[in-house]
Amino acid sequence: MESQQQYPQQFSFEFFPPKTSEGAEKLINVREKLAVLKPKYFSVTFGAGGSTQQGTFDTVTSIQKAGYNAAPHLSCVGSTKENVREILKSYMDKGINRIVALRGDMPSGTHDIGEFRFANELVEFIRAETNDHFHIEVAAYPEFHPQASSAENDLNNFKRKIDAGADSAITQYFFNPDAYFRFVDDCEDLGINVPIVPGIMPITNYTQLARFSDMCGAEIPRWIRKRLEGYGDDRDSIKAFGEEVVSEMCHQLLEAGAPGLHFYTMNISTPTLAICGNLGL
Ligand code: FAD
Repeated sequence: MESQQQYPQQFSFEFFPPKTSEGAEKLINVREKLAVLKPKYFSVTFGAGGSTQQGTFDTVTSIQKAGYNAAPHLSCVGSTKENVREILKSYMDKGINRIVALRGDMPSGTHDIGEFRFANELVEFIRAETNDHFHIEVAAYPEFHPQASSAENDLNNFKRKIDAGADSAITQYFFNPDAYFRFVDDCEDLGINVPIVPGIMPITNYTQLARFSDMCGAEIPRWIRKRLEGYGDDRDSIKAFGEEVVSEMCHQLLEAGAPGLHFYTMNISTPTLAICGNLGL
C-alpha cells in the first residue's frame, strides 16, 4: 500500500443519467446534499445507445453549470473513432477536463464491436487526440474482471491502460478489503504508480445487489450474504447492517492509506451521507 499513501485522499460521487424530468429534479436535490461533503468531482455513467449518451452529456453539463467538477464516463465498445472524437470535442467545448475511460459491454443482440477493442485503445486515442487536456480515470478490478483469462493477464491489461496514459483508477466495488490491498501491492510490483481509488457500493437492497454482483464479478462474502438474506423484507435492518459493514470497510481502507473513496450513489444521498458521517468526513 506504500505507493498509495503519497496521494491526498479525495472523494467522488457517481450518478447515472436520469431518464425522466422528475428523476433529473430529484438528482439535483441529491447532488446538493452530497455537495456539502465537497467532493473532488461528480461522475456520470454512460451507456451504449444514443439516448443515454445525451443523458450523460446533459447531466454532466448541469453539474458543471451548478459550479461543481463533473466527469463523464465514456465507453468505447461499438463506437467509431469519429464518434468518440465528436464526444471529446463536445466535452472540451464545455470546459470538462476529467473523463472516466471504459470499454463498456456490448448490448445484448449487437455484434459490431466498432473501432476500439479494449479500454487501453480508448485511453491511447484520447491522449493522441487531446494531449493532456483530460485527467483520465480507468477501471480497476481487485477481484478481477469477469472476462479475464487469468488474474495475471488482467493485471497486465490494467497496466496497459496506465501505460497508455491514464492518470488514476477507480475500482469495481468489493466488500473484501484484502482483495484491494493485494491488488495494490501487485500493481506496485508491476511498477504502476497512480492513485487507485476504491469504488464503494452502499448496501440498501439485497436482491438488486446480488444481481449486480453476479454480473460484474464482485463477491459478496458469505457471512454478509447470509445475514442480508436473513433480514428478508426488513429493509431497515438491511440498511442498518449495510451501513455498519460498509462504513467499517471504508474506515479500514482509509486507515491503510487508500487515496480516497468513490461512491456508487445509485442517485440517492442517504446511504452515502450516512457512511461519510460515520467516517467523520
Ligand atoms: P478493459 O480494461 O478493456 O478490460 C475488459 C476485459 O478485457 C478484461 O477482462 C481485461 O482483462 C481484458 N483486456 C483488456 N485489454 C486487453 C488486451 N489488450 N488484450 C486482451 N484482453 C484485454 N460500463 C458502462 O457501460 N458505462 C459506465 O459508465 C461504466 N462505468 C464504470 C465505472 C467503473 C469505475 C467501473 C469499475 C466499471 C464501469 N463500467 C461501466 C463497467 C465496464 O464498462 C465493464 O466492466 C466492462 O466489461 C469493462 O470495461 P473496462 O474499461 O474495464 O475494460
